[in-house]
Amino acid sequence: MKFDNANIYASLEDPKIEKDLAAALQQGKSAAELAASLEFKDANNLASCLKSFDDAEIVVNDIYTFATLIQVVDSSNEAAEQLTARADVLLSELAQLAVPLNNRLMELSDADFQRLLDEPVLTPYHFTLRHRREMAVHRLSVAEETLLKQMAVDGLQAWDDQYFKLSATIQVEINGETMGLASAFNLTQSADRDIREAAWKAIRQGWSTHQESVVAGLNAINGWRLSEFSRRSHKKDLHYLDIACHQSHIQRSTLDALLDTGYENRAVGHRAIQAMNRWNGIEDGKPWDLMAAPKETDDVEKASIPFAEAMGIICKAFGEFDPEMAEFTRMMADKGWVDADPTPNRATGAFCTSFDGAGEPRVFMTYEGTMGNVLTLAHELGHAWHAWLLRDLQPSEREYPMTLAETASIFAETLVRQALLNKAETDAEKRHILWQEAETASALLINIPARFEFEKNFVEARKSTKVSANAARKLMLGAWEKWYGNSISEYDEMFWASKLHFSIAEIGFYNYPYLFGYLFALGVYAQKDKQGDNFRFAYRELLRDTGRMSAEDCIQKHLDRDIGKAAFWQDSLDMVESSISAFEALV
Ligand SMILES: [Zn+2]
Repeated sequence: MKFDNANIYASLEDPKIEKDLAAALQQGKSAAELAASLEFKDANNLASCLKSFDDAEIVVNDIYTFATLIQVVDSSNEAAEQLTARADVLLSELAQLAVPLNNRLMELSDADFQRLLDEPVLTPYHFTLRHRREMAVHRLSVAEETLLKQMAVDGLQAWDDQYFKLSATIQVEINGETMGLASAFNLTQSADRDIREAAWKAIRQGWSTHQESVVAGLNAINGWRLSEFSRRSHKKDLHYLDIACHQSHIQRSTLDALLDTGYENRAVGHRAIQAMNRWNGIEDGKPWDLMAAPKETDDVEKASIPFAEAMGIICKAFGEFDPEMAEFTRMMADKGWVDADPTPNRATGAFCTSFDGAGEPRVFMTYEGTMGNVLTLAHELGHAWHAWLLRDLQPSEREYPMTLAETASIFAETLVRQALLNKAETDAEKRHILWQEAETASALLINIPARFEFEKNFVEARKSTKVSANAARKLMLGAWEKWYGNSISEYDEMFWASKLHFSIAEIGFYNYPYLFGYLFALGVYAQKDKQGDNFRFAYRELLRDTGRMSAEDCIQKHLDRDIGKAAFWQDSLDMVESSISAFEALV
């Protein structure tokens, strides 16, 4: 399975790349000129300005994606790295060019704004324009907004780049063998407890050596954001969680309902952790046991699943729900839209991305035949199906938030897991599949909220002072204690350094959307059996609305449920609880 992106560009040397980059910048400049002379009485010109900015951005984004997909398959490719850096700068330039128009739209009176929205030509922009306007009160001057965007490339973003460079170069020694962090991380999933412990401790040691650099980055990223939010509070206070919720298209009350219900049900996650440990014969669970492979008892657990067989399993499970979803998935494989061979020099992790110009998704992962790999592949293909369903919409209607993105992926994963469970005949087979469910519950119900807790407390501490590495360790211990409680006997105090999510510059609180997506997808999944055969059409419609509605409105419209209330989340948690009960019975 190798990418075939030749229909996008022939290679990194394709002269069309330079031509497209230049044309995109020119298109952005022309749109900015038109925007400057724009009379808001004319909705047509405004629509064409907005479309020009979107189109230019798509071209540059697609070039960024093209280079990224080369880079993740071969991380030593410097030309690809340089091209992504250039695309980054150009994206910032385009965003700067759009600032004056955005500011003018924010300054319109409510009546004038509504008059514009009533024009049919602007219908595809309803959600984005309204959504942006919610932040109008926090808008800065054109000069300030432009400067912020320009400085962020080498300021805010630089700390993120430094973290990635650091994580790619740190070498650790495990049982006499020197290796990078990605290989060391794989060993933390070993079935051998001694190897896991050695790997976990080596990773912690590796990061401890660089803890001052990492904590400097966290201080800078969060300090930058706090300074920016305080500038934006000139008329009304802007809380850091308001920004996080705005980016996620949810209300603060929804976030509270999610986390509060999660906290009340944390015992479900604890039971998952303890049941996995019991199966592995562990009495005092440690952080290095959290991702342990299950003890093998028979051939079921040892068997490796070839890629073609995994695709067969996934297509069958998808097909039983929606034949078109299966057909699409087969096409992904046939057209070279999936790259999964475990070649040397690859990046770790798995993701789905899209060439928005062509409306084509791509999936990257490293497939080595485990049950976890099969579910990861299903997860990423679920993202791809989501992107595919939106391909004919205007770009302004395709930008769904992370909270809703994880719905499609976890829904797809659940389809495959359930299909495998249904056909499992022996207890060993069932336990093998439910193990994945338990691991997911442990990660999403406990680890993810602990990340949220840490980040919130870090930001609070950062308001008054720079946070030292020692203080960061203490904050992490407190966060783990709150969420893991007695389910394990030691906490991971260096997790703020080893987990890259805290060092992502572009977006803060890169954590709770996973919990949201997990429980939300289960809530959607529950409707599948209630609504029967036609649910696949309702599901497609729901996904198509994810970029043009708030999460609350989307669920209200398609499922008639209120996600601002604990009851919605409790129903999903009850589903997890029953899976964990089944798993407990089998261990
Ligand atoms: Zn995902």
